[in-house]
Amino acid sequence: MARVISIANQKGGVGKTTLTLNLGFALAQMGKKVLLVDIDPQFNLTFGLIGMEVLNYAENNVGTIMTRESSVEDAVVEVEENLHLIPSHLNLSAKEIEIINAYNRERRLEKAITPILPDYDYVLIDNPPSMGIFLVNSLTASDYVLIPLELSYFGVIGMQLMFNLMRMIRSETNEHLSLLGLVPNKFTRQTKVPSLRLKELKETYPDAPLLTIIPKSIALEKAQSKGVSIFEFDGDGRAAKAFTKLAREVVSVVEG
Ligand code: ATP
Ligand code: MG
Repeated sequence: MARVISIANQKGGVGKTTLTLNLGFALAQMGKKVLLVDIDPQFNLTFGLIGMEVLNYAENNVGTIMTRESSVEDAVVEVEENLHLIPSHLNLSAKEIEIINAYNRERRLEKAITPILPDYDYVLIDNPPSMGIFLVNSLTASDYVLIPLELSYFGVIGMQLMFNLMRMIRSETNEHLSLLGLVPNKFTRQTKVPSLRLKELKETYPDAPLLTIIPKSIALEKAQSKGVSIFEFDGDGRAAKAFTKLAREVVSVVEG
């Protein structure tokens, strides 16, 4: 049965999509069966993985499975043998109001993906940078949350908002939700600030597991703009090694 991990942070541009995509490839390389779910109306993950083919999924995507207009099986796209995707679509933002007004609105994603969980080892959900109904659905459907963050002042104090939301989800819809860890992203030693903020992060949230730090990497940004994983673009580089290490760490926490 798959373990479901939400990659989430209400702050924009911190690396949620980059992390989802590259962790997904890293886990698949380890022989795991991975399903990626794009629940962000910006559909960056979907576009990164299948490009303009996203246009073909107007009637079979994460939104239509949540509104019950299509079956989950019809919405699964095979990216590679061990790496599948439930895409987002341009029409997802229009579904938001429909889902907000629907019965059992917080559990729409959970209910939709449950039938296919036995087919996978890991489900990774890429979330939008906001605290709305999509993130609530995602956390309700998840076993774990993985939080990428930037080591800036607002990046560090902004963690409190995610922790508050997780507390609310635990008390209202999903008592099993646990924090897999924080993933500091875009780390550099070229300026002193990130190292100082890292220290501050550890002091402010001593109980939050701190996972592999992902370096700031031009290769990562280039890989993303070409729509490929870091393993394809620069497989021997520092960023690829960091994602492999992170995948091992995730497996050891989740599988014990
Ligand atoms: P959004 O909140 O809009 O969904 P996000 O949290 O998903 O954003 P990404 O899209 O993954 O963030 O990353 C934002 C930008 O930062 C992208 O251009 C990406 O290529 C770049 N980026 C992410 N991680 C790194 C890194 N470690 N080094 C360099 N650039 C990075
Ligand atoms: Mg994103």
